[in-house]
Amino acid sequence: MPNYKSAYKRILVSGGAGFIGSHLIDRLLEQGHEVLCADNLFTGSKRNLDHLHDNPRFEFMRHDVTFPLYVEIDEIYNLACPASPVHYQHDPVQTTKTSVSGAINMLGLAKRMKCRIFQASTSEVYGDPTMHPQKEDYWGNVNPIGTRSCYDEGKRCAETLFFDYHRQHGLDIKVARIFNTYGTRMHPADGRVVSNFIVQALKGDPITIYGEGQQTRSFCYVDDLVEGFIRLMATGTDITGPMNLGNPVEFSIRELADHVLDLTNSSSKLVFEPLPDDDPQQRKPDISFAKDALDWEPQVQLREGLVKTIGYFDHLLRQNYAL
Ligand code: NAD
Ligand code: UDP
Ligand code: UDP
Repeated sequence: MPNYKSAYKRILVSGGAGFIGSHLIDRLLEQGHEVLCADNLFTGSKRNLDHLHDNPRFEFMRHDVTFPLYVEIDEIYNLACPASPVHYQHDPVQTTKTSVSGAINMLGLAKRMKCRIFQASTSEVYGDPTMHPQKEDYWGNVNPIGTRSCYDEGKRCAETLFFDYHRQHGLDIKVARIFNTYGTRMHPADGRVVSNFIVQALKGDPITIYGEGQQTRSFCYVDDLVEGFIRLMATGTDITGPMNLGNPVEFSIRELADHVLDLTNSSSKLVFEPLPDDDPQQRKPDISFAKDALDWEPQVQLREGLVKTIGYFDHLLRQNYAL
């Protein structure tokens, strides 16, 4: 009898209408897979998926991951969760529920389907780190009761659940710790630093630097990140993570502002606003694990990625996109 079993999978992407999720879906469809996107559109937008309307291998489902989901799939990427501090602090209880109850439901689904599951974790599990750069074996420095805690502790608890389902139920897990990622399809009113600075510069509005701008971040272009996801998901069952995925080149926020002003040719002025509570002072991934295990490292350097992202926002603003 011929073997009709396909190499292509039916893949669930939760949070797939968001910035990173929509890019991931494009990659999975390009590879020939079927994709089911489950998203409650809290921060995501159907606009990010507009170009997929006529693709018969793509399906969108409006669904909140804090509720159970019974579908038939071969693999899961769990990305559902607001990622910008402005958004995750808007309804902090829902943020923790999304990370924790959402992880339980996605893990329950993976257990029933006996399928591999990927978790979009975050560098925020390291909090305001005392180890620099951050390696995966660092346990972090996280305030459990602050305004960022709904996100940080929610994501930490989700990691705990992933590793307990792995140990207790033998689940095949892949946990990625994502560092600041930027690129096309970020929401212009998302509140994160790259989108804020670019939109402000293009509109000629003041560039809002929180604190003195000496805090650092390491910015990864979205295409590099998605490549890391695909490679991590393709590893053998011995690799569970957690694995740092990010660009290890570190910039101060002030330096980022200078690059954006230069590349947009903008005359926007800098304004200094108070630093938010518990804002990490420094962040830079040690990516040696990903380099060894995935033969992966980011290819797109900051200015190149900023040019692409500026082009995207420029186009949006010219269309009079409602901010
Ligand atoms: P995003 O806000 O653009 O995307 C998140 C998506 O999740 C949105 O489409 C949103 O509508 C959806 N969502 C939120 N709550 C949901 C719920 N309860 N049920 C179903 N869908 C829900 O953010 P992003 O930058 O694309 O982030 C994607 C994932 O990567 C998140 O889990 C985030 O925590 C993680 N991450 C991102 C970064 C980054 O720099 N972008 C860094 C670390 C981790
Ligand atoms: N779940 C789901 N889809 C499934 C299977 C489970 O959403 O296909 C949810 C369900 O809400 C359940 C949770 O995942 O409460 C955890 O499932 P698990 O089997 O681990 O636990 P139990 O059902 O025993 O509580
Ligand atoms: N930030 C800033 N101006 C802004 C938005 C953010 O100076 O308009 C700073 C913020 O205080 C933080 C860094 O930029 O130190 C990155 O912020 P973002 O919200 O993008 O991500 P985080 O890494 O803090 O989750």
